[in-house]
Amino acid sequence: MALPGDTKYDCIVIGAGIQGSFTAYHLAKLRKKTLLLEQFPLPHSRGSSHGQTRIIRRAYEEHFYTHMMEECYQLWTELEKESGAQLFRKTGLLVLAKAGNEEYEKVCKNMLENQIPWESLSPAEMKLRYPGLFLSPGEVACCDINGGVLFAEKALRALQMLFKQMGGIIRDGEKVMHIKPGPVVTVTTTSSIYQADGLVITAGPWAQKVLRPLGLQLPLKTLRINVCYWREKIPGKSGILQSLPCFLGFNLNGEEHEVYGLPSQEYPGLIKICFHGGNEADPEERDLKAQNPNIQDIEKLSSFISRYIPGLHPKPAVVEQCMYTNTPDTNFILDHHPLHKNIVIGAGFSGHGFKLSPVVGKILSELCIGEKQSYDLKPFRISRFKTPLKAAL
Ligand SMILES: Cc1cc2nc3c(=O)[nH]c(=O)nc-3n(C[C@H](O)[C@H](O)[C@H](O)COP(=O)(O)OP(=O)(O)OC[C@H]3O[C@@H](n4cnc5c(N)ncnc54)[C@H](O)[C@@H]3O)c2cc1C
Repeated sequence: MALPGDTKYDCIVIGAGIQGSFTAYHLAKLRKKTLLLEQFPLPHSRGSSHGQTRIIRRAYEEHFYTHMMEECYQLWTELEKESGAQLFRKTGLLVLAKAGNEEYEKVCKNMLENQIPWESLSPAEMKLRYPGLFLSPGEVACCDINGGVLFAEKALRALQMLFKQMGGIIRDGEKVMHIKPGPVVTVTTTSSIYQADGLVITAGPWAQKVLRPLGLQLPLKTLRINVCYWREKIPGKSGILQSLPCFLGFNLNGEEHEVYGLPSQEYPGLIKICFHGGNEADPEERDLKAQNPNIQDIEKLSSFISRYIPGLHPKPAVVEQCMYTNTPDTNFILDHHPLHKNIVIGAGFSGHGFKLSPVVGKILSELCIGEKQSYDLKPFRISRFKTPLKAAL
């Protein structure tokens, strides 16, 4: 194994998912000598950032996410310009709910207060615009007009390409095995040893495994998500393939879980519709458990589809797997390690972090180099949890 060489980095980032890649990109833009480490050969589909699409929206219950999304939209556009790749398609984001649903009311109030372009849709308008999507009496709909689809894998590729063009170094296929804190942090991987003034840990569902030896026990749960794709019963008949935008459904069909969907992109003719939740699973065992996916999840989705989008076949045509890493309040963790200020943590993106990654990366890069924070980080601090510090193993 190589010993620490002459090269000392300003910053090392662990994990080349969307959060680590955006952090590395911002650091390189700030002219910091940056190393991005990834355990798997890139690209890979073992974490949370793979697949072609993610929803982008300002429709949030919390003001602080809506506020962060303003800059996110600008940074996504900047990334499109710099890379020359189309990364966003505006479709609008429909929010569907049972009338009186608390989350729905908060989302509408937030959009109204923040002057986000949105509209409330009557049953007649819904029928006209989205034939093939059937709401029941007592169910309501609104639209976040500038919501849409982000092209996830293209975005990852663009970021990593630009990072390298700015002089950043990516070492993939190198798993971080040990971190030695100190004024200069030493990181040992499966094939080398590196040193840096600052370290950012964005290890997705592996965050807990990387942090535990640093004495930090965060209340993170890793969930295996069934990503389901659905086919029209009679191709072209329902009109749903042409008309369906991105959507979120709160408390529909008697379900507490949110349901969400995106237009056909991954597979021609198939629409992605999933539950915003899943069963706890270790990321190392995600695909072992996938051989026996949680049928209950899929049965509930089938029932949702039969009732609301009956033009789709109620059995998924494709089921894939992805991981969520959830915090108890589903807000992110963006903070310093409580004992080692030059170690920064980005974790717990709770199934909604992709769209926010441009600003997450900016925040983590600012924390790493000790710059003034652009955002109030109160909702994201580790101190909101009880006793996260454990004796280091
Ligand atoms: C099915 C699904 C749908 C989603 N839909 C949306 C959506 O519509 N909109 C939205 O905004 N968000 C969505 N999300 C959430 C979003 O995709 C995630 O929040 C985001 O991808 C998390 O990125 P990450 O970089 O934290 O994690 P990851 O992408 O998992 O990256 C972490 C990386 O760290 C690496 N790593 C871990 N340990 C080590 C180690 N020891 N050494 C080196 N490397 C290591 C891993 O290999 C991995 O590549 C969805 C997520 C899923 C799963």
